[in-house]
Amino acid sequence: MRIYLDHNATTPVAPPVAEAMARVLRDEFGNPSSVHAFGQRAKALLDEARSAVAALVGGAASEIVFTSGGTEADNLAVRGAAEAPESGGGRHLVASAIEHEAVLATLKALERRGWRTTLLPVDASGVVAPAALENALTDQTALVSVMLANNEIGTLQPVAALARMAHAAGALFHTDAVQAAGKVPVDVSTLGVDLLALSAHKFGGPKGVGALWIRRGSRLAAHMTGGRQERNRRAGTENVPAIVGMGVAATLAADKLDEEASRLEALRDRLEREILARIAGTAINGAPGCRVPNTSNVSFEGVEAESLLIGLDLEGVAVSTGSACSSGTLEPSHVLRAMGLSSHRTQSSIRFSLGATTTVEDIDYVVDRLPAVVGKLRSLVGRR
Ligand code: PLP
Repeated sequence: MRIYLDHNATTPVAPPVAEAMARVLRDEFGNPSSVHAFGQRAKALLDEARSAVAALVGGAASEIVFTSGGTEADNLAVRGAAEAPESGGGRHLVASAIEHEAVLATLKALERRGWRTTLLPVDASGVVAPAALENALTDQTALVSVMLANNEIGTLQPVAALARMAHAAGALFHTDAVQAAGKVPVDVSTLGVDLLALSAHKFGGPKGVGALWIRRGSRLAAHMTGGRQERNRRAGTENVPAIVGMGVAATLAADKLDEEASRLEALRDRLEREILARIAGTAINGAPGCRVPNTSNVSFEGVEAESLLIGLDLEGVAVSTGSACSSGTLEPSHVLRAMGLSSHRTQSSIRFSLGATTTVEDIDYVVDRLPAVVGKLRSLVGRR
């Protein structure tokens, strides 16, 4: 038995996505920048995918720039806004303390080159307080970046309110929507953001492709130089098969959004209810009423998270201790630390993330096996 509960790390490719990609790889090799018919066929495929991805976030197709993934989309947003010649010379950047490394490490890199940065604190449930942004904004702030949904705990942020405040101070607003798209409705107009990052492999698409939605007219410097692809914002011949896959995945995700959200929420709630009922010393991390429906981050008192991950893997169950990019580092989660959790609790927390392949049988299997795995680990350190 193999149960995959790590969909926030990556999702299995949906079968129609794989089929569409295989067809393009086999039959459509044209370069979308070529004028002849081969090129124009490839360009039409890009246009179709661009419309599908734009529809997932309520934007216009002309506002989508395809990238190599969520990390590049975040880099393009943060570096592009910081380095835009029209940014008025403002050299201050703001982000939440619980952003993905794609944003945090980019801020650090800019800091080394002279930008000032402010990280906004979060409360005990992992939510940024608008008052914290109010205090951080100055007339030098070029960009505010706050993610829509957190990858480790699933908590949703008050992005619309934060974006209004950033705009009032003359700053651009970027949101990393990588963990929100395909799980909750995402609409760029309602959110009022200027930039929004997506990654295909988080919603049934392939790895190595993503997109940045850029509000028409937003100031942004291109960070890849070369040809004139993607309206001069991202040079390089487009990865046509992967982009087609992302388009198909976006349409599938949009079509099933409500149905999948309620199904996963019910399964996630069942998982949490049973864990709390069957295992003493457990607690849920993150804002219970304000999370994406597929994510659950749970602390198991007296248990080392890495050992629990391995114990569950031996039972055929795949979970994670947080971000896939940080796994193996044994660094305590920066997200749980920012929420003020004790070091014991940050080191005894694991993430279950559900997805398209998750069934009620999977959840029941996990909650049947967990008590013994936890009990064994606790007995090894002399706890019950
Ligand atoms: N942003 C968030 C919130 C993520 O969870 C991830 C992936 O883990 C990324 C960005 C990076 O996306 P990619 O893996 O496509 O580079």
